[in-house]
Amino acid sequence: MSRELVVQRPEGLYCPAGDFYVDPWRKVERAVITHAHSDHARGGHGHYLCAASGVGVLRARLGDIDVRGLAWGEPLQVGGARVSLHPAGHILGSAQVRIEVAGAVWVVAGDYCLSVLGDTNPTCEPFEPVRCDCFVTEATFGLPIYRWPRHADVFADMNAWWQANARAGEASVVGAYSLGKTQHVLAGIEPTIGPIYAHPAAEAINAAHEAEGVALPALRPWSELSDPAALRGALIVAPPSANAPWRWQRAARVREAFASGWMQLHKARHRAGLDRGFVLSDHADWPGLLAAVAATGCSRVIVTHGDEAVLARALTERGLECGAFRTTYGDEG
Ligand SMILES: [Zn+2]
Repeated sequence: MSRELVVQRPEGLYCPAGDFYVDPWRKVERAVITHAHSDHARGGHGHYLCAASGVGVLRARLGDIDVRGLAWGEPLQVGGARVSLHPAGHILGSAQVRIEVAGAVWVVAGDYCLSVLGDTNPTCEPFEPVRCDCFVTEATFGLPIYRWPRHADVFADMNAWWQANARAGEASVVGAYSLGKTQHVLAGIEPTIGPIYAHPAAEAINAAHEAEGVALPALRPWSELSDPAALRGALIVAPPSANAPWRWQRAARVREAFASGWMQLHKARHRAGLDRGFVLSDHADWPGLLAAVAATGCSRVIVTHGDEAVLARALTERGLECGAFRTTYGDEG
């Protein structure tokens, strides 16, 4: 038996002992999905396995698929591999995949978020460290410059910004991806400041969150925004690419912001011509990545996507064996 519990194939990351793929980017028969973001969860696979709490959002994205939901920590024998799923703290239902074969344990973490400040995301289950021999990690924000501020401070800033805009009769638009970030923003803002709208692209995803018990504020119908008067004082959460009514409204001033880890870079904020950038990420920052790796007790790490070289160097200096998988996974924008 090879000591490699997961290998890289043209279709994606493959577990030979269990004959399945984790987040494959080409069509396969058996796919274990860490989470429903489009770069990790693609359509067209034969069978899907994901966390039970992630089935709703996966179906909201991929439609009627053959999917089995697994409770957190519930072991499942897949061929010669024992598989279980553990919360990754990234978005609703996001899972780390624990794979055990003949006493060896690997964990494929997918995208994850662990805050050394103790911040958690109210829209999903908090990251759970899982002991393993080899940890397959992302490195989206794998540079020492990435250190997230406290969520409470970010949302205090966002509320103050919205309130000031509302007093001036302006609309506040927060750019946020439909799955994950939109719900994180909605769950975190102060809903009494004014009316709240979310782009229709997030409608089914919001419903899937509410079905899993995630509390979101009451939203106004999007169609109201065709009336310019509705824009005054409103908070509008929409994906950055949205072809949205406020782009052609002249009756009200619109302030635009974006919520992302990339907003820590002043250059990114500037280039986007934004009024404000809120540093709110659903990925681990640099201290979070190092803490997550340390918490697994692993002796080996394989980095999948992001700033992998810098993270690998830092982990090698800490005495870990480091490798890399080439994947097609993206970032948070
Ligand atoms: Zn993701």
